[in-house]
Amino acid sequence: MELILLGPPGAGKGTQSKFLETRYGVAQISTGDMLRAEVKAGTPIGLEAKGIMDAGGLVSDDLIIRMIGERISRPDCAKGFILDGFPRTVPQAEALDRLLHETAVDLDAVIELKVDEAVLVERISGRFTCAKCGAGYHDTFRKPKKEGVCDTCGGTEFTRRPDDKAETVHARLDAYNVQTAPILPYYQAQGRLYSVDGMAEMDEVQAQIEAVLRKIGVTAA
Ligand code: ADP
Ligand code: ADP
Ligand code: ZN
Repeated sequence: MELILLGPPGAGKGTQSKFLETRYGVAQISTGDMLRAEVKAGTPIGLEAKGIMDAGGLVSDDLIIRMIGERISRPDCAKGFILDGFPRTVPQAEALDRLLHETAVDLDAVIELKVDEAVLVERISGRFTCAKCGAGYHDTFRKPKKEGVCDTCGGTEFTRRPDDKAETVHARLDAYNVQTAPILPYYQAQGRLYSVDGMAEMDEVQAQIEAVLRKIGVTAA
């Protein structure tokens, strides 16, 4: 299965792609997570990306395309992958088409999660993550079952992203509307675009995504 989850910041891409990773046995690839790992490790890529990420802008297509090219050639992608947060510009979508063409891999679908801006802001401002295993939570919509303890790994340390503060969120939403939204018609023209209601509860969004996958003949591993 080769799938793209598309949607504005806070739409639920990470939440849904982590679920799909387990259910379908394919690799979840988040360019945002990869960049945050580079920043944390202080690599040259991290140093180049940090200021742009903190300001809510998009990192250069060149850097991202190189990173993705290397990533999807790794063995864990042999059974497929879910792209979360990539592509984010038309040149990135075109580069992905070239990469997939070279390896004779066909994209199954691009699933768009549609969510209103007011809800996105609410989701982003309440988002936090387990520092140990990366499981995602929300202050209101997805609290750990036991306060302060990760459901998945029992970890007790959590982190919030520096770019999840209100000032940066608007820049990120602008970047989505101006630079990312134009890839919707790109995939529409290819007949690969499916939209789901990302405003629904997490389980319901999950069910809608699975319905799309069934419709196009993709079944769980
Ligand atoms: P993205 O990866 O698209 O930026 P996330 O998956 O990180 O979005 O979700 C953003 C925040 O909203 C997280 O705190 C997550 O727990 C929460 N969330 C995700 N999906 C839903 C949903 N359907 N309803 C309510 N909250 C959600
Ligand atoms: P969200 O989950 O809120 O949509 P991400 O974690 O995907 O955010 O991305 C965080 C930041 O990393 C973006 O605001 C941007 O600066 C950078 N980034 C991630 N993916 C890309 C990409 N494909 N192209 C350019 N910049 C990216
Ligand atoms: Zn955890």
